[in-house]
Amino acid sequence: MSFITADRIHDGHKWLPLGTVLEVADDGTIIAFHSDVKDGVIFYEGVLTPGFINAHCHLELSHMKGVVPEQTGLIPFLQSIPKYRNDYSEEQKKEARHKGYEELLKNGVVAVGDIANVTDTIDVRGLDKLHVHSFVEAIGFAENPEKQFARSADVYAAFAAQAAGSKKLRQSIVPHAPYSVSFRLFRMIDDHDKQALISIHNQESRAEDEYYLLKKGPVQSLLHGMNIDDDFFQPSGKTSLQTYLEWLSPTHPFIFIHNTYTSLTDIQLAKAYLQDVYWCFCPNANLYIENALPDVDMFVREHAKVCVGTDSLASNHQLSVLAELYTIKQHYPHIDWETLITWGTYNGACALQLADVAGSLQAGAQPGILQLGGIDSNEQPTVKRLF
Ligand SMILES: [Zn+2]
Repeated sequence: MSFITADRIHDGHKWLPLGTVLEVADDGTIIAFHSDVKDGVIFYEGVLTPGFINAHCHLELSHMKGVVPEQTGLIPFLQSIPKYRNDYSEEQKKEARHKGYEELLKNGVVAVGDIANVTDTIDVRGLDKLHVHSFVEAIGFAENPEKQFARSADVYAAFAAQAAGSKKLRQSIVPHAPYSVSFRLFRMIDDHDKQALISIHNQESRAEDEYYLLKKGPVQSLLHGMNIDDDFFQPSGKTSLQTYLEWLSPTHPFIFIHNTYTSLTDIQLAKAYLQDVYWCFCPNANLYIENALPDVDMFVREHAKVCVGTDSLASNHQLSVLAELYTIKQHYPHIDWETLITWGTYNGACALQLADVAGSLQAGAQPGILQLGGIDSNEQPTVKRLF
């Protein structure tokens, strides 16, 4: 057991009073908080926080690091992924996946929301060092989506069988994105489990709303380029989010990913319609793909609940929650670190339904404890995992 303190301690919600000392068991379980321990206290420079939560990742794409050039825009990026993703041996993919997993651990991540189209990540899930919620993506824009859904259901079943023996593994079937999932496939996802945690790539490009509003533009070109017949699709005259929300039950907890082009009305309608909404920003991926960022200030003004993710190594240089927070800080310097750390810890844990075990320093829990250095400097801050 040890007594530790630092210049400042953030418990996942807020800064703790200066001089607070944590009593921690050797396995990282927090025993108690003290304000009066004088001897034998280990002092760390910088900031102590709970372990980070990466709410959006694609470990199965780790082998695609550096393959797609930067700032092509979303549509060319999306065309590159299926084109190159299978140009690798199983051994190469496995090695990259494990490296990505180790990178998450090294960067202080304790839980990850991980997108899966196939069962490749069963091996890293089995390492059991991270909490993993696998979001099994259903993808398909067709009138008859039974086959597409069956494929996702098979992947889901394999993950569910594995999770039966673990406290750290969960999974749900989710829609990939509004432009890649038909109305009927949305309904099948909804019917599968109306309480399931949903994550969806949302409003990542302007073209997505253009397709829903007017049925034209780059998304339609993308579909036609893939020989997808979209005759059945009727534009709703509303944004994508305002359209597909009506196709899903409000009983689902939601994590909207990216939100680069989300409007004030979208935020307000989601809040009014849904019971549990988190908005996940992946700023480094947004800069990589579109060179654009969401209007973070608007979300703050609306008291929207924000968490962060890294997206995949196909659209990022690293898998680091701290690097994402630092990018937000660089573009929105008035957002304080107290808020940013909450986004990277407690809010992410709530979004992944893990707040009882991760995301905050609480007695009896084992949330991981990180030491952050240099958050008040103008350089990229550092993270070291203490427990
Ligand atoms: Zn993604």
